[in-house]
Amino acid sequence: MNYHDTAQTADMEVTVALGEDFSELRNTVRQICKGFPGEYWRKLDDCSGYPTEFVAALTEAGFLGALIPEEYGGSGLPLRAAAVILEEINANGCSASPAHAQMYIMGTLLRHGNEHQKTTYLPEIAAGRLRLQAFGVTEPNTGSDTTQLKTRAERQGDVYVVNGQKVWTSRALHSDLMLLLARTTPIDQVRTRTEGLSVFLVDLREAKGNGIEIRPIKAMVNHNTTEVFIENLKVPAANLIGEEGKGFRYILDGMNAERILVASECVGDGRWLLNKGVAYANERRVFGRPIGQNQGIQFPLARAYAELEAADMMCRRAAALFQAGRPCGPDANIAKLLASEATWKAADTTFQTHGGFAFAQEYDVERKWREVRLYQTAPISTNMVLAYVAQHVLGLPRSY
Ligand SMILES: Cc1cc2nc3c(=O)[nH]c(=O)nc-3n(C[C@H](O)[C@H](O)[C@H](O)COP(=O)(O)OP(=O)(O)OC[C@H]3O[C@@H](n4cnc5c(N)ncnc54)[C@H](O)[C@@H]3O)c2cc1C
Repeated sequence: MNYHDTAQTADMEVTVALGEDFSELRNTVRQICKGFPGEYWRKLDDCSGYPTEFVAALTEAGFLGALIPEEYGGSGLPLRAAAVILEEINANGCSASPAHAQMYIMGTLLRHGNEHQKTTYLPEIAAGRLRLQAFGVTEPNTGSDTTQLKTRAERQGDVYVVNGQKVWTSRALHSDLMLLLARTTPIDQVRTRTEGLSVFLVDLREAKGNGIEIRPIKAMVNHNTTEVFIENLKVPAANLIGEEGKGFRYILDGMNAERILVASECVGDGRWLLNKGVAYANERRVFGRPIGQNQGIQFPLARAYAELEAADMMCRRAAALFQAGRPCGPDANIAKLLASEATWKAADTTFQTHGGFAFAQEYDVERKWREVRLYQTAPISTNMVLAYVAQHVLGLPRSY
């Protein structure tokens, strides 16, 4: 299928498509999602399982290789098309998060890897034979202060020996490769704290039990997230991505795409939740009339709709700027901020609209409500986005 025809990728002019862009793509996603109803996700939630069949269906449809250029076996679609795929998955009651990182983590390899690394890995990732969907950045003791991370990688001949610990490394038990950020030059030996960090491609198939131990974290949401313990792990020097010491910049380079994609997932979840809330408000009768006739029920739903529309527009704008190669840091961050808050409002409103039944698992409202709470914390927390906007857009002093 060729989706390029519907894409807005003008080089000179930045255009934003309104309404149902990439409708053919959306329809294909909807068809796939029909095979994975709420019951499927509820069962996984109960046992902290991984949606292997769902991810296989997305892989088979070629969706997870959407952003990999055609020369490396992917579909080479614009970022907006990938955003639409993720949005539509969530808008149809499914969950994009078990698979979304397979779409975008490879961006670091694509932009900064050497040709050998790209020809070795990208076609395999595009075909879904290799999963690169684990990203080890966050550490237990340094959190949002990424440049202070403690995981060390020391060059010893042809290998780097890595020691440290990561936390909240999602999907590490369902990934063949992991992108790892580690310090290669001690912080007291660099000019600025953003220097001296490096990115490695770690082959988890070899590393598990051989320098890496992965333990699942039981969490509020079924996110297949883990703790990763690293002890004397030997990573071939050939698996260093780009130049040693420049890893922080490489990771930052991928942030805008990630923010835009995650924001689009938020919009999708918000739409699913809102539809559910509106349907219930129309059908539930109390005091002899539909509860949706009460302004106390309909106004919050109307407000949630308005906020989702605004967030959606911001996602489209950020994606259009990204595609045109224009600076889009502020737009991508603002899209993520607004979309994460709009979907949370939609979730909480729909939850309240459902009265006591919101708590019954069979409605799927409580599950989605839990799931969308995450977006205000990960992949970046709201305060960090606000600090970015305050400093880089408004010109206020750096606050940390
Ligand atoms: C389910 C889940 C999945 C995740 N998946 C991944 C993953 O795959 N890979 C990965 O690397 N990480 C992952 N994360 C980690 C996530 O990115 C971090 O949790 C997030 O960035 C916040 O870091 P922290 O938890 O250490 O909070 P902290 O940095 O300790 O912050 C705690 C609170 O303080 C606020 N705060 C801290 N400093 C400031 C400041 N200077 N100004 C204002 N407020 C401040 C924060 O905004 C936050 O609200 C995941 C997290 C979760 C919960």
